[in-house]
Amino acid sequence: MKIALDVDGVLADVIESWLSYNNKIRPTISKSQISEWDFWKNHDINKFDFYNELSICWKSWEDIPPTENNIASATKQLSNIGTIDIVTARDESTHSDVKNWLKLHKINFNNYIGVLEGVEKSKLDYDIFIDDSPLNAKSMLEKGKSVILYSQPWNLSFEDKRATRIHELKNAVPIIDNMINESK
Ligand SMILES: [Mg+2]
Repeated sequence: MKIALDVDGVLADVIESWLSYNNKIRPTISKSQISEWDFWKNHDINKFDFYNELSICWKSWEDIPPTENNIASATKQLSNIGTIDIVTARDESTHSDVKNWLKLHKINFNNYIGVLEGVEKSKLDYDIFIDDSPLNAKSMLEKGKSVILYSQPWNLSFEDKRATRIHELKNAVPIIDNMINESK
């Protein structure tokens, strides 16, 4: 079982760093207010600035918190049932920061795959994607891939029976285990 594991919003809570950054220069936004993927539109923030600011936040990778405690243990459990690749969409300048972050948080993985746009992920050869982006999930499902959606405020309105929503990474383990058993 080849598993593609996303970073931003699944392992790394980079939006927390971005909110601290934003809240120093613009009106305050809290994480629970972010109810859409492109929430920045509603706050008159342009897309280029938003993604550029995420890259700036990654430069201070030591300050980016993990999404949950025991993220390393959950990833280890996943690597016991399949091959885990980190598959992340981002500006190329931040790959080294992400790799440092993964090392610091003792995340187990096989390959590190970087793409420029999230929707490119669905073209890659994986059995299952663990991701938080509703746009990526839609494109993966359209290409017949399996998706485990890591629940975040910005994907709560995404509903598709083919995708399984999880609230903790370790909950992906029994889901993938079932998939393996069903395919036997
Ligand atoms: Mg993500």
